[in-house]
Amino acid sequence: MPELAYLNGKTLPLNEALVPIEDRGYQFGDAVYEFIASYNGKMFCMKEHLDRLQRSMEGLLFPAIDRNFIETAVLELFEKAEITRAGLYIQISRGVAPRDHAWDKDMKTQVIMTIKNVKEIPSKLREQGVDIITVQDERWSNCDIKTVQILPNAMAKQKAKAQGAFDAIFVSKDGIVREGTSSNFFIIKNEELITHPLTKNILPGITRMVVKDLAKDLGIKVEEKFLLKTDIYSADEAFLTGTLTEILGIKAIDGKSIGDSKRGEITQKLYKGLRKKAE
Ligand code: PMP
Repeated sequence: MPELAYLNGKTLPLNEALVPIEDRGYQFGDAVYEFIASYNGKMFCMKEHLDRLQRSMEGLLFPAIDRNFIETAVLELFEKAEITRAGLYIQISRGVAPRDHAWDKDMKTQVIMTIKNVKEIPSKLREQGVDIITVQDERWSNCDIKTVQILPNAMAKQKAKAQGAFDAIFVSKDGIVREGTSSNFFIIKNEELITHPLTKNILPGITRMVVKDLAKDLGIKVEEKFLLKTDIYSADEAFLTGTLTEILGIKAIDGKSIGDSKRGEITQKLYKGLRKKAE
């Protein structure tokens, strides 16, 4: 079960895969990415992830890359690695060129991937729920595009960690709760699921979409609306969703207990539903 890297068509050991220093992904954050996970040797929602990757490339005016080419490269790396519970990271940068803000039209995109074993969230946190904090959203206005410019997300996650919390969620200047540093955010209030609508202020999460479908199957009403920071403290349940996060219950926000301050009933039902669908 080797952990591998892919660099423009070549498969290599991770520590041998190097990119040129004038890659625009490195100098300008001019790159998009996806993270896809597998369960029991089967990629989960690969099509949806690759659709989003394509939309991200369009959002940054990258030249189109043949969909079959990407899909084949992803599947070949996945097969070579033989990792049953894998996390596959794919990053596409605009290319390598002498540093200049503007770019030439005929640049050649660079495709890199890594495949590793998924580092699971400890079962104790899954069972008990996590503590999170709120931070001001200082990101740009195109958060629906999955670019590698995620320094504000890294800063916020680190701030949470320094305070002994698991993660942070972004709140706009006017108090609207957006999403987590690498997850979407949901609350349950009066047995209804509520999350932020799809706008340019959040990433259209694949897990978010799966959770909405699961909720419908379970007869749980889903509403997309703006939640204020003051609304979320009185939630019955709250959780984060993401490819690695899956569905992770929240027991406290900014030190204030949520519901009965452990992972809620509906959150647990949804998590079981997700695992069943993915496995
Ligand atoms: N929001 C942000 C900012 C993210 O980085 C992620 C993780 N990709 C998500 C939401 C969740 O998306 P997904 O469910 O597709 O992993």
